[in-house]
Amino acid sequence: MGKTQPTAETCDNCGRVIGKLETPHLLHGEHVVCADCYQRLHPQPPVQTIEATAKLWKAVQAIGVLGILVGVVMLVIGIRNQGDAAMTGLGALFIVPGCIGYIVGRVCAWWFHG
Ligand SMILES: [Zn+2]
Repeated sequence: MGKTQPTAETCDNCGRVIGKLETPHLLHGEHVVCADCYQRLHPQPPVQTIEATAKLWKAVQAIGVLGILVGVVMLVIGIRNQGDAAMTGLGALFIVPGCIGYIVGRVCAWWFHG
């Protein structure tokens, strides 16, 4: 009480004394805050979520392309087998959602990227 320690710093946010072993953090270049407050107050860059979303849509596109490739291979095999209806039908079943997945992935990647 009344005695001030020149070496000890207090947190500008919560007023807690920042110990010598703790690392004082600078917030906005002027406020000295403790590590806890710094983590809570420091704005997290939204870049990570954008990258995660982009990766998700890229994955959707990749799955779509894979579906188209598998479908085309099945179609070719079906046609070679004297028009194997089951095989060609299965191929079409892969190509249609594959195209949809690819288009949705492309559109969403473009849409969410701004
Ligand atoms: Zn604090």
